[in-house]
Formats: sequence, C-alpha cells, structure tokens
Amino acid sequence: MAETSHSGSLNLLLFLVPLLIVGAGCTTTTSNGSDDSVVSQEETAIPEFRGQGTGDALLDSILNATSDVETTGPVAPVAVTFDVEAAMDHIEALAVDIGVRVAGSAEETVAAEYIRGKLEGMGLAPAIETFPVDGGRTSRNVVVDIASAPETTRYMILGGHIDSKSPAPGANDNASGVGVLLELARMWAAVPPPIDLQLVFYGAEEIVDSDPDHHHYGSRAHAAALPASRDLIGMVSVDDVGVGPDLHARSMSRGPATLYNQFLTVAEDIGLKASHKSGPGFSDHEPYEVKGYPVAWLQYRLSPDGHTPRDTIDKIDRNRLVDVTRWITAYFDGLSAEMINDLAGNSP
Ligand SMILES: [Zn+2]
Repeated sequence: MAETSHSGSLNLLLFLVPLLIVGAGCTTTTSNGSDDSVVSQEETAIPEFRGQGTGDALLDSILNATSDVETTGPVAPVAVTFDVEAAMDHIEALAVDIGVRVAGSAEETVAAEYIRGKLEGMGLAPAIETFPVDGGRTSRNVVVDIASAPETTRYMILGGHIDSKSPAPGANDNASGVGVLLELARMWAAVPPPIDLQLVFYGAEEIVDSDPDHHHYGSRAHAAALPASRDLIGMVSVDDVGVGPDLHARSMSRGPATLYNQFLTVAEDIGLKASHKSGPGFSDHEPYEVKGYPVAWLQYRLSPDGHTPRDTIDKIDRNRLVDVTRWITAYFDGLSAEMINDLAGNSP
C-alpha cells in the first residue's frame, strides 16, 4: 500500500491551534504555554463490556470509565491542542466497548448517548433529533451548535455518522470521524470558531436493507428541516479518516465546487497531499449537495476492511487523525470574509 508521508514522532501529534490561543476563559487539556508541553491524559482503562444488554448500564459503564476532561478555572493564555489519544478513547468507546452500531439499534442509541454525554461535559448543549428508519426502527442525530463570537446568521455544518454496517464494529467507518469531531468540539467549546458551526453526529448513514438507496436517514432528515432563519453556507462530512493511503475532499460533482476547492487550497498551504475525488454520494454530504450547498467529504481511502469485522481500532493510524484535524483547524483558522462570501454566493 502506498504511504503518504507522515511524521513519525508522537510529539508532533499535539499541535497548537494558532487562532485559538488567547483568552479562553476555561478549557480542558491545556499546555503551559511552551511548545513542547505535553497534554496529559489520564490513562483510564475502559472495563471490558461483556453483557449483551444495552442501554443505561452500558452507557454508564462507558461514561464513568472514560476520564472526563478536567475543567479548570480561568487560565490565560492557554493553548487548545488536539489530543489524539482523546480521539482514540472515543473510537475505543464506540468501536470496542459498544461495537457494531446498526442504524436504529440499541447500540446506536448508546453511542448517541455517549456522544451527547461527552458534549455536555464540554459545557455544550446538544439536542437529539429522531427520525424513522425503514424496517420500523427509530434512529437519532446528536446536534450541537457552537457559536462564533459574535454570532453569525451564516453557519456551516460539520458532521459524521455514528452507525456502522453489520458486522463491522466501524472503527474507521466511522468512529474515526466521531472521534475527530468530538475533539474539535472540545477545542471550539474552549475558544469559539470564526463562524457559527453546527456539529451533527448522524444516525443511520449506512444502507439498512437490500435497497441501495435506503441510507443517509439522519442527514436526509436534517437537510430536509434546515431552519429558514439561518443561512447554511457549507457542509463538511468527516467519514473514514483513520485508514488508507489517499486523502480526498470529495463530492458528487453535482453541487458547487467552492468548499472542496477551498479545502484543497488549504491542504496545499499546510503541505498536506490531498485531491478531489468525484463519486456517488456515499456519505452524509449527499443530501446537502443535492440541495445545492457547497460540500466536502474529507476521507482517507481506501480501507480494505470497510463493512467487515476487520474494521477494528488496531487499524487506525493516529497520524491520519492528526492530518485531518490539522486540515480542518487550518481551514477554519484561515476562513476569510472572501471565502465566506464565495460559499454564501454559491449556496441556495
Ligand atoms: Zn462511513
């Protein structure tokens, strides 16, 4: 398998978010201001879950076992860093402790509640959106708004799906995206992003039966109910970001090219090798692109283990999680008024 170049040093996995440095009133993992400071992450083993039952007991065991990020009083200046081990903890909770997370299943619900619990622990106020899935089940999205300062009418969505396709535990597809998004949420909760963001953890992305169009229930439900009072200008899907040689900003080549082209420009600026790949809408950007919004599906591909029992946490490459997070933070750090206007001008 061809390898892209990655840094080999774990020390480089923790990087400062340039814009997000000064003035955070309260934060979570912080550095002491020196570049070589290391984020400490309490090593807490998650007890193995053997029970077949799901629901509250499982959720409690996972939430209580995973060390919640400590919150301290006001500290200035602070640096908010991406903690790849925290992202890995989230991947472990979803893909190891919970395991296979079929659309509309009890396991998917536990995963959604895990995400909600983590977001609430960051001081955010997530909401649950429920929707029906073919076959009579109900699935849910976890939705959380993170306001910029000052708040904007225009906003962008970043999302990734919670569910996995049986029999896959879905470490790469897509606990990897959830892990990255939860870390981004923690960072933006500490220091606001430059534009209002809505993070959506989607239920029921995967195909649920023999009909190849029976998928994307969560994102389709969400895209069908966008509020008229707000102005969506772009959607980023973070799906499959831990395995595979090639990094892409993808689309169906049906909607505007604005957002994925902006991401590719940023990739070049930060020395990340990435390209556009066109294809079927096999991720949650699909309903937004169909409605005409600028989209980008950030994906490492191709994992040979997708939708199989081999999509396990040992395959996840921390360097790839770092690459994608660095890409996203660099994009928002450099998000200019001109870029926002370009997105808005190409949105419905
Ligand atoms: Zn996926």
